[in-house]
Amino acid sequence: MANPSLLILPGDGIGPEVMAEVRKVIDWIGANRGTTFDVSEDLVGGAAFDAHGAPLSDETMAKAQAVDAVLLGAVGGPKYDDLDFSLKPERGLLRLRKEMDLFSNLRPAQCFDALADFSSLKRDVVSGLDIMIVRELTSGSYFGEPRGIFEEGNQRVGINTHRYTESEIERVARSAFELAMRRDSKVCSMEKANVMEAGILWREVVTEVAKDYPSVDVSHMYADNGAMQLVRAPKQFDVILTDNLFGDILSDCAAMLTGSLGMLPSASLGAPMDNGRPKALYEPVHGSAPDIAGQGKANPCACILSLAMALRYSFDMGDDATLVERAVEKVLADGVRTADLMQADGESPVSTSDMGDAVVAALNALAA
Ligand code: NAD
Repeated sequence: MANPSLLILPGDGIGPEVMAEVRKVIDWIGANRGTTFDVSEDLVGGAAFDAHGAPLSDETMAKAQAVDAVLLGAVGGPKYDDLDFSLKPERGLLRLRKEMDLFSNLRPAQCFDALADFSSLKRDVVSGLDIMIVRELTSGSYFGEPRGIFEEGNQRVGINTHRYTESEIERVARSAFELAMRRDSKVCSMEKANVMEAGILWREVVTEVAKDYPSVDVSHMYADNGAMQLVRAPKQFDVILTDNLFGDILSDCAAMLTGSLGMLPSASLGAPMDNGRPKALYEPVHGSAPDIAGQGKANPCACILSLAMALRYSFDMGDDATLVERAVEKVLADGVRTADLMQADGESPVSTSDMGDAVVAALNALAA
């Protein structure tokens, strides 16, 4: 059988730095866990623009469509700020999401015990937190037509359309319920059915889909209450299912419960491929961090944890995914910190590369 295939797109800024550490983990898995990946690497974002004059070439797009999973670092940087909108680095990422039709965005918010004091909330509110936000990514307010700024009488009017079809709701709902079955079997769906017709339809379709997953406990919440509950008592949730607009806000809110941007992975999943696994793009939540790029200061954990998500959702390697997550947890518990995770003056941070080495050492220790 062919090796599982992975396309790596390091991108810009700290992207290549954190991806170098992910490579160490991939190599460790190959040497110690019996799975060798066919890894290819290509350009995206500003790096692709510099080489090809476009933020994602057609060849790279075709490769992304052909592999089992794509792992992306980050795109963007001040050098590209004045480029035409269509050539900006972010357009490369948007093209990947659009052409791969990645409709289900998974954003975990997990609070590692060693970092619980980084949260703006009290330790007991966030310690042990492990929730997953499933956000619809390809429809809703950000894509609905009509959209634009129009003249109306003697003034302008800005219009966006919050539009969802039943099938768009159904497919993302299914992905949330499937996910919940691998977790604590709870889905809380969030919309504004009290004031929006699209919210009423959302609730009806989710209720219908839930019938196919009798072992999953489903609940519904208005999204504004959801935001409040996330801050009041986030541990009541397991999987939160929501649309594009509310998901954008709620996932950022949930992410910050856990502390640093350098720790947050994500996955964007599409329809199943011939092998039954979803099309998938994994990436850290953070950007290219131009303020620290090239200085060996970046925290590679978000990207390493994105690889762990790929192992779990694209390669059916749940045990290996858990091992990688435990290795990151161990490193943090041992007090190894990149600069973004420092709290007190006088502590000395480790470099990006040292952090990657520490994760590999922890993998060795845990697997021994
Ligand atoms: P950013 O996430 O790059 O950085 C925000 C802050 O967090 C910075 O101070 C940065 O140093 C810090 N930070 C981020 N990741 C870190 C890590 N792994 N380790 C330690 N510190 C980290 O967001 P920004 O500054 O708003 O954007 C910078 C560029 O990245 C822009 O061009 C933006 O468009 C782009 N961007 C790309 C993505 C993506 O590729 N998915 C996401 C967000 C922003």
